[in-house]
Amino acid sequence: MPPFFSFSIDAECLGSWARAGTIQTPHGTIHTPIFMPVGTQATVKSVSPEELHAAGTQIILANTYHLMLRPGSELIADFGGLHSFMQWDGPMLTDSGGFQVFSLGHLRKLSEEGAAFKSHLDGSPHLLTPESVMRIEAELGADIILPLDICAAYPCSVSEARAAMERTHRWAERALLAKEKYRPEQTLFGIVQGAFDPELRRQSASFIGNLPFPGLSIGGLSVGEPKQMMWDMLSYVTPALPRDKPRHLLGVGSPEDLVIGVGLGMDMFDCVLPTRVARHGGLFTSHGRVNIKSARFRAQHGPLEESCDCYTCRSYSAAYVHHLARTEEQLYYRLGSIHNIRFMLRLAGQLREAICAGNYPAFRDDFIARYVPASEKVREEQREKWKAARRT
Ligand SMILES: [Zn+2]
Repeated sequence: MPPFFSFSIDAECLGSWARAGTIQTPHGTIHTPIFMPVGTQATVKSVSPEELHAAGTQIILANTYHLMLRPGSELIADFGGLHSFMQWDGPMLTDSGGFQVFSLGHLRKLSEEGAAFKSHLDGSPHLLTPESVMRIEAELGADIILPLDICAAYPCSVSEARAAMERTHRWAERALLAKEKYRPEQTLFGIVQGAFDPELRRQSASFIGNLPFPGLSIGGLSVGEPKQMMWDMLSYVTPALPRDKPRHLLGVGSPEDLVIGVGLGMDMFDCVLPTRVARHGGLFTSHGRVNIKSARFRAQHGPLEESCDCYTCRSYSAAYVHHLARTEEQLYYRLGSIHNIRFMLRLAGQLREAICAGNYPAFRDDFIARYVPASEKVREEQREKWKAARRT
């Protein structure tokens, strides 16, 4: 491990692969398992750094693709990097931009050299290579950085998955070499690929896990496949990874994903979902996701959830938050986002406590039994609306 980064395991679960750990970075300590709110444009939408800290945020993620296009990594470097540009003084992770190139940019050409694409903003041409991504992320200055990788489409053939994985491995080695020129205080994680083939997943975990990366991200999952398929892939990946490196599940997920993913050996999670669904009225409670716009909150005097210790629930009635959401007031986006961020971070803390106390499997089973996932909840609300419509 380099001197600017360390990971230690504080407790391990006997009945699963869950563990609790501590990560040290130049901008502070992270206790795992942890959820990382996503600040796509160098801001977690509508929430200030002070509010992020108050909600218990330990580390945030920012997107290289968006920031390299606007305002540009050189400009951010001129302001001393992302930390000082956005006034976030805690740990930060940047992705490589590769995922957005494949999903947002107009990809022109994928070659051994890199990924040529046109900006989704103005059509300007750009080339991301394993080397240029190391330079851009050095300019952005996050504590943890990711190398350029190829996320295979879902579904894809085994030969396509193998080609994407093998190129990802060659790019990983190029990124490690290129990084030596830049900032030693930044820590480069490796990315495991292999799409949805068990053997490729095992190969990638073993190959990337054995390179000198101090941490590992699992990529290429949560790209439209059934949830069970994602969990199956982790069951092949985790046993092939070294025990002593932190494991980050890229782009996941919901509260139930966090609870299940921890048991499959994941330490770090990031996703836009909690803040995105909040902006649309979806708020997490211990019984599942609810829609704050629903009529049942119209006159509720108490907070959304009595047991919630977030700023929103400590300060405002559910009826007021409902009113703000229904009238699409700006304050709603902030209050809703703060509640969901706090929910995810409180859940991560509860998972850590359960692992340390040796009762993670019971915590997981209890949570899953209690928590109604969104799709079912939405269907239930829809049914209630229809029933109500028939009554009138
Ligand atoms: Zn709350």
